[in-house]
Amino acid sequence: MTKPRKRLALIAHDNLKPALVAWAKRHRDALSSCELMATGTSGARVEEATGLPVHKFRSGPLGGDQQIGAKVCEGEVDLVVFFWDPMSPHPHDVDVKALLRIAALYNVPIACNPASADLMVDAFFAS
Ligand code: PGA
Repeated sequence: MTKPRKRLALIAHDNLKPALVAWAKRHRDALSSCELMATGTSGARVEEATGLPVHKFRSGPLGGDQQIGAKVCEGEVDLVVFFWDPMSPHPHDVDVKALLRIAALYNVPIACNPASADLMVDAFFAS
């Protein structure tokens, strides 16, 4: 029986977009078997760098984090990769916090830096 495709949500703040793109390229093979969704600009960058299709929500400051949070609530996300920027303030800080809270509430793995995302994606595809 074929395993269901993992559903990954990808988000990176501007300073961390290069890190997200590098991570996605490094794991391109694994990601090619996943369903990918992302906030607008992060999704466009990943799509451009990997050639993989990404469902793009609104940009984070325009509500994209909340759209991904809604997917988490609905049980439609298996892993959130969220490289939030610990060094810069953001107009949508409350949305960032809300997504972190909702992932914790629904016990969905959330990787906030490349080291964590490496471990989690490797764990998904280890078996
Ligand atoms: P973006 O949104 O991918 O559209 O840049 C991410 C964010 O800033 O939360």
